Amino acid sequence: MQKGDVKALELKVQEDDLLKQFVGLLDYDTRADFTSQDKPSSAGQLRLGAHLLSRLSKLKLKPIQTKEGVIITRIPATNGYENKEKLCLLAHLDTAPDASSDGVKPSLVTAYKGEGIELDSGAIIDHNISPELANHLGEDIVVTDGTTLLGGDDKAGIAVLMHLAERLADDRIVHGPITIIFSVDEEIGRSTKYLDIETIDCDFAVTIDGCERGELDIATFNAEGAKIIFHGKVVHTAVAYGKMKNAIKMMTDFIDLMPHEESPETTKDEQGFYHVHDAMGNVEQAELMMILRDFEKEGLERRHAFVEQAVDKINEKYGQGSCEAIFVKQYENMETVLKESPAIVNYCRAAFDRANIKLTEMKVRGGTDGANLSCRGLPCPNIFAGPLNCHGIYECLPVPSLHASFEVTKALVELVALGQDGKSQKAE
Ligand SMILES: [Zn+2]
Repeated sequence: MQKGDVKALELKVQEDDLLKQFVGLLDYDTRADFTSQDKPSSAGQLRLGAHLLSRLSKLKLKPIQTKEGVIITRIPATNGYENKEKLCLLAHLDTAPDASSDGVKPSLVTAYKGEGIELDSGAIIDHNISPELANHLGEDIVVTDGTTLLGGDDKAGIAVLMHLAERLADDRIVHGPITIIFSVDEEIGRSTKYLDIETIDCDFAVTIDGCERGELDIATFNAEGAKIIFHGKVVHTAVAYGKMKNAIKMMTDFIDLMPHEESPETTKDEQGFYHVHDAMGNVEQAELMMILRDFEKEGLERRHAFVEQAVDKINEKYGQGSCEAIFVKQYENMETVLKESPAIVNYCRAAFDRANIKLTEMKVRGGTDGANLSCRGLPCPNIFAGPLNCHGIYECLPVPSLHASFEVTKALVELVALGQDGKSQKAE
């Protein structure tokens, strides 16, 4: 069993600018807070944003910070490349609410041998927790002390883009017009509300927010949320016979109608599901929160109709007006948009090739910022940033994956500037 070494990390960052960039971001506690209505939801995101703003300004760029804390930086094209397609690159400043990001103590496991990693807290990252670790034998891996998450999601993406900005600002890399965006509160689903497609004004975009090396996300679920409300009738239990209607029982009847074999815990790969995730109530009124997910549009429509039928059945049993459903569209599968406007996915595929990174195209069993942006008119797949076991204390970052993410992003910028392998040309 190997352990992380703080000294080894200190030595390594002296010779590795990109890693240094990453480690420097870990001092900022940017945990998103869904209980807060502030924009952004935590002050640490503003502090990290301000730090990045001043560093980008030193590169003679003119970044702005919006009132919600989003950092937007335009990097003018290399001379002669002004008319090339406009590429937007995004990463997010916040870290997941699931674990603390306060006082992150990173250390380095040198040349991972394959027997698991023991963190200072005693927690162990082994191949049960993280089967992907087997892909990283012999690699240096950044870990935490086991009391916080690492924050590679998405500070690895931020580090890649900061490292890239330095090289674009002085034209070390030939490029067309580039916009770099550091968004806020991605982890609590608010980030794209603060982004305006017209203002971004780009032909396409890529988020650098995936995990394992080689990942290119080109599809997401179609997603809808539903609130089911049950109206009961309260009568004293002594005289309830034939009169009382218990909203809690309506709710359990409703849950029983949902197909158990189509839940998150019983589905995988390309199967969709129904998921009840929150319930509250008493005899008089009960509310059930659920989400519906499906890769196919028709599949989601079918699930929507199924829930409506279940509502009807409850009303038949308990009387009209006993049950109602309120649906909210959440996001759409970006695959449809990316198939209609395939240039950016083609550029990404070519970029993996150019950077010599083995490509794994994935359908995400969830949503991404890119799903929202794509459906609003800015085609936006997602590429890996490198961290594993995100959102918890087992999070770690194989250093070669961070570099590979940078190499793919750099290759993407170059290919878009050259107009090579986007296949479909810019729409006139
Ligand atoms: Zn993320």
